[in-house]
Amino acid sequence: MNGEQQITCIVCPLGCTITVAKERGGLKVSGHECRRGEKYALQEATDPRRVLTGTVKVSGGFLPRLPVKTTQPIPKENILKAARLLNSIKLSAPLRCGELIVANFAGSDADLIATRDLGTKR
Ligand code: SF4
Repeated sequence: MNGEQQITCIVCPLGCTITVAKERGGLKVSGHECRRGEKYALQEATDPRRVLTGTVKVSGGFLPRLPVKTTQPIPKENILKAARLLNSIKLSAPLRCGELIVANFAGSDADLIATRDLGTKR
């Protein structure tokens, strides 16, 4: 993080604009209305993370692709690489919602799981 960063808090609908600034070797947070916002802004300024959602190819299913997501946010800097990895995954139906697709996806602590049931073609 350089100097100062303005962050819109997405923890609740108020959407406070929070400023995180470098100050005396540490970080100063201002503009937040609560501690949850402070925690969110510090995380966003120092180690931004996102849950990755997408789809992967499936053979033999009644749909050609299965929606998937990571079980927890992964570092934002790895999102593009992780999204590209989705293209290399090929599964076979049937699949269950919540089924583990890839453990420690893209070298992260998060697993990739299915977010719906996908049965076979009739
Ligand atoms: S700082 Fe607190 S009150 Fe403001 S948007 Fe974030 S969670 Fe909501």
